[in-house]
Amino acid sequence: MAKIIRVQRAKTASVRSLPKKAAKAKPKVKAKAKPKSARPAKRTKAPKRKALSKPWTPAEVREVFERFRKANPEPRGELEHLNPFTLLVAVVLSAQATDAGVNRATRELFKVADTPQKMLELGEERLRDYIRTIGLYRTKARNVIALSQKLITDFGGEVPRTRAEIESLPGAGRKTANVVLNMAYGEHTMAVDTHVFRVGNRTALAPGKTPLEVELELERIIPPEFMLHAHHWLILHGRYTCLARRPRCEVCLINDLCRWPEKTV
Ligand code: SF4
Repeated sequence: MAKIIRVQRAKTASVRSLPKKAAKAKPKVKAKAKPKSARPAKRTKAPKRKALSKPWTPAEVREVFERFRKANPEPRGELEHLNPFTLLVAVVLSAQATDAGVNRATRELFKVADTPQKMLELGEERLRDYIRTIGLYRTKARNVIALSQKLITDFGGEVPRTRAEIESLPGAGRKTANVVLNMAYGEHTMAVDTHVFRVGNRTALAPGKTPLEVELELERIIPPEFMLHAHHWLILHGRYTCLARRPRCEVCLINDLCRWPEKTV
């Protein structure tokens, strides 16, 4: 019996003398292979996404704009203005507002303030009274006063003619610059608002995730002879025909060319 106890102690002592890790180490047990059915399915490569629609050919793009031109040779923007300055102000005020709403406010405003100097003389508080029916009117009034000041200080009271300069004005972004350059100075720019963005994507004429992508694609594909009016044709098409909720495909000029899978004709 004493012999057995000695052997037992010796075994325990030999385990104690081992380094900690080794003492804890458990014998490796080979993991049981999972049955096939329990294994996660093998990853397969996602199939390449099919192009949603056939790209437009240059002839088709030309056809679209020839139809727009035939239907409305001299399209006009709907923001009322008297000169480049009032156009600039109207565009700044139109962010997240309708053209009709802006016009209702500016009709009276521009009678008293149609230059940067007169706008400064009017002052922010009185300007707010003219435009308080327009969304975000407090911020917009602040911007209009600040941009009027900057026009006088930096540009001799004139609306500048380059995108960078217009974008440097308070409240003016790329879309504002594009509208002013196009409508006031006849530049071939493409302002992408909500209507142009929708039409570009829906028809697949100029698909893009951002307004800038749509803008650049439209500029790339539209023949130069149509660029002066292309912005207005597309806006008017989106505003009156290719409506957001219920596009009027049955009366649409380009319904045979449009790639939208849900078009109703
Ligand atoms: S066919 Fe319909 S969806 Fe296509 S552009 Fe015309 S109105 Fe818009």
